Amino acid sequence: MTPPEEEGLPPVDAPRTRAPFVVVKCKDCSKEHVVFSRPATAVNCSICGAPLAKPAGGRGEFLGEVVRTVA
Ligand SMILES: [Zn+2]
Repeated sequence: MTPPEEEGLPPVDAPRTRAPFVVVKCKDCSKEHVVFSRPATAVNCSICGAPLAKPAGGRGEFLGEVVRTVA
Protein backbone atom coordinates (compact mmCIF):
# COMPACT_ATOMS: atom_id res chain seq x y z
CA MET A 1 0.00 0.00 0.00
CA THR A 2 1.49 3.30 -1.06
CA PRO A 3 1.00 6.67 0.67
CA PRO A 4 -1.18 9.23 -1.15
CA GLU A 5 0.53 11.68 -3.46
CA GLU A 6 1.01 15.17 -2.08
CA GLU A 7 0.37 16.94 -5.36
CA GLY A 8 -3.34 17.10 -4.65
CA LEU A 9 -2.87 19.20 -1.53
CA PRO A 10 -3.84 22.88 -1.73
CA PRO A 11 -0.97 25.37 -1.47
CA VAL A 12 -0.62 26.59 2.09
CA ASP A 13 1.52 29.61 1.32
CA ALA A 14 -0.66 31.17 -1.36
CA PRO A 15 -0.87 34.90 -0.81
CA ARG A 16 -4.25 35.85 0.55
CA THR A 17 -5.72 39.00 1.87
CA ARG A 18 -8.23 38.99 4.69
CA ALA A 19 -9.30 42.52 3.87
CA PRO A 20 -12.30 42.62 1.57
CA PHE A 21 -11.66 46.22 0.57
CA VAL A 22 -8.67 48.32 -0.33
CA VAL A 23 -8.24 52.07 -0.48
CA VAL A 24 -6.98 53.08 -3.89
CA LYS A 25 -5.77 56.60 -4.54
CA CYS A 26 -6.49 57.94 -8.00
CA LYS A 27 -3.23 58.68 -9.74
CA ASP A 28 -4.79 61.55 -11.64
CA CYS A 29 -6.69 63.51 -8.98
CA SER A 30 -5.45 61.90 -5.73
CA LYS A 31 -8.99 61.16 -4.58
CA GLU A 32 -9.06 58.05 -2.37
CA HIS A 33 -11.68 55.40 -3.08
CA VAL A 34 -12.69 52.30 -1.16
CA VAL A 35 -12.73 49.50 -3.72
CA PHE A 36 -13.71 45.86 -3.37
CA SER A 37 -10.50 43.83 -3.43
CA ARG A 38 -11.96 41.36 -5.92
CA PRO A 39 -13.89 43.60 -8.29
CA ALA A 40 -16.20 41.89 -10.75
CA THR A 41 -16.15 44.87 -13.07
CA ALA A 42 -13.78 47.71 -13.79
CA VAL A 43 -13.85 50.53 -11.24
CA ASN A 44 -13.30 54.10 -12.30
CA CYS A 45 -12.64 57.26 -10.30
CA SER A 46 -15.89 59.03 -9.47
CA ILE A 47 -14.20 62.40 -9.83
CA CYS A 48 -12.17 62.21 -13.01
CA GLY A 49 -13.08 58.82 -14.44
CA ALA A 50 -9.56 57.38 -14.43
CA PRO A 51 -9.42 53.58 -14.08
CA LEU A 52 -8.80 52.45 -10.50
CA ALA A 53 -9.18 48.69 -10.64
CA LYS A 54 -10.17 45.93 -12.99
CA PRO A 55 -11.02 42.27 -12.51
CA ALA A 56 -8.04 39.94 -12.88
CA GLY A 57 -9.43 36.48 -12.27
CA GLY A 58 -9.73 36.76 -8.52
CA ARG A 59 -8.00 39.56 -6.73
CA GLY A 60 -8.30 42.73 -8.74
CA GLU A 61 -5.56 44.53 -10.55
CA PHE A 62 -5.23 48.03 -9.12
CA LEU A 63 -4.25 50.82 -11.43
CA GLY A 64 -4.06 53.52 -8.81
CA GLU A 65 -1.96 53.55 -5.66
CA VAL A 66 -3.14 51.08 -3.00
CA VAL A 67 -2.94 53.17 0.16
CA ARG A 68 -4.17 50.61 2.67
CA THR A 69 -6.56 47.76 3.17
CA VAL A 70 -9.89 48.00 4.93
CA ALA A 71 -11.10 45.06 6.98
ZN1 LIG B 1 -9.50 60.73 -10.19
